Amino acid sequence: PPAVNTCNSILKSVDFQILGENELQDLCKRPAVVDTVKLEAIVRPIMTSVRTNGDKALLELTEKFDKAKLSSPVIDVSAVDEPVLEKDIRDAIDLAYDNIYKFHKAQLNLEPLVVETCKGVVCSRHVRSIERVGLYVPGGSAVLPSTALMLGIPAQVAGCQEVILATPPKQDGSVSLEILYIAKKVGVSKIVLAGGAQAIAAMAYGTESVPKVDKLCGPGNSFVTMAKMLVQNDSTASVSIDMPAGPSEIMVIADESADASFVAADLLSQAEHGTDSQVVLVAVNLSDKQLDIIQSQLDAQAKRLPREKIVRESLSKSFVIKVSSMSQALYFSNKYAPEHLLINTQNAEDYLKDVQNAGSVFLGPYSSESCGDYASGTNHTLPTYGYARMYSGVSTSSFQKHITAQCVSKEGLANIGPAVATLAAVEKLDAHRNAILIRQGQIDY
Ligand code: NAD
Repeated sequence: PPAVNTCNSILKSVDFQILGENELQDLCKRPAVVDTVKLEAIVRPIMTSVRTNGDKALLELTEKFDKAKLSSPVIDVSAVDEPVLEKDIRDAIDLAYDNIYKFHKAQLNLEPLVVETCKGVVCSRHVRSIERVGLYVPGGSAVLPSTALMLGIPAQVAGCQEVILATPPKQDGSVSLEILYIAKKVGVSKIVLAGGAQAIAAMAYGTESVPKVDKLCGPGNSFVTMAKMLVQNDSTASVSIDMPAGPSEIMVIADESADASFVAADLLSQAEHGTDSQVVLVAVNLSDKQLDIIQSQLDAQAKRLPREKIVRESLSKSFVIKVSSMSQALYFSNKYAPEHLLINTQNAEDYLKDVQNAGSVFLGPYSSESCGDYASGTNHTLPTYGYARMYSGVSTSSFQKHITAQCVSKEGLANIGPAVATLAAVEKLDAHRNAILIRQGQIDY
């Protein structure tokens, strides 16, 4: 799309008014989705190697990618003492735990759904936890204990029987004390000291020391996301995944009421995740002068960040789109389907009803995305790449499934039997039809 770069601008700028549908669609493409064929060619051999050679391959790959030489890829959490954390860190984790627990516990509905669809035909639906789950906690460019909370708490609330957690080890072979503390708090049984595609393969197929799981949850880089997509399509793995949760992204819709420094800080908070993250500013009727202030705030704040290099690279793949109304802003936002959507405008809460596609929404000037990343209570494992069009973020129900049941009485069979027999005949499935007729005494053997 036509992009105009004013000098000193960090974000390239495009104008909604002059873009056609195809150009808007192009703007919705994420920088991370570059070459899936190339990515698959890297990831597949890693996965095959773990599947074939188990722990041996896992240890070799951990040495290669994470520079850690381990004697075992697994820590038995119950065998390790509770780590001693600094008080302020422990208190912060405990506060975050309480809020996330509260919000996810409130999602737990164990009541069966019971409906008599026809006289004598009672259908019901019952919730069950998924027995064995594997949580992926990223640890490449930053160690993310917060993700251990976001995955571990809903698994704990749902009542999963075996919860294992994989995360890349530090170069000395250890795991972060915060992750260990959280693992104990949420009831993780084993920590797999591995990252990337090899960690996903180990949990999906199992190795000598890593138990095989039924479902994999958690975000990660492009290698992790590709590995999750591959195992979910491999019937020999027989595993499901939460969603494709790749490189983080944020969209901020701002009008003239928004504080430029807040807007810049929120954009930078996602730009620092990784070089393939994307941030988007939707500027609602902002003057060139107001936009310049945001651009210079981005520059000034970026300069002071330790991850400035990462930030500048992801900002170079990001953009601002100028719109002239909230309806244009929401039209583009719903098309883009951002992982995180901040609405920093007047009467922000009024627009929630118009949001169709987004992972999680942050309303008003004080709802920084960082709150949802850590401690407000909502989950931060969210669909990226526009998958918010059809996926939800991680929640308690990500660790549950439903079983349906029916109880049909003699009277019920009389009510639905003729329709069942007719439909079976249409499909030429005589054995199905017979199973009804034999009960109704219409055939005899
Ligand atoms: P990561 O743990 O996802 O990946 C690290 C692993 O990648 C390494 O252990 C290594 O095995 C593998 N790897 C690295 N380079 C490789 C290569 N060349 N070939 C094969 N494998 C390789 O950590 P990360 O890289 O820091 O990425 C974390 C990601 O998670 C970021 O993109 C972040 O934005 C994202 N994230 C997303 C959400 C969400 O909800 N969507 C939440 C938190 C974080």
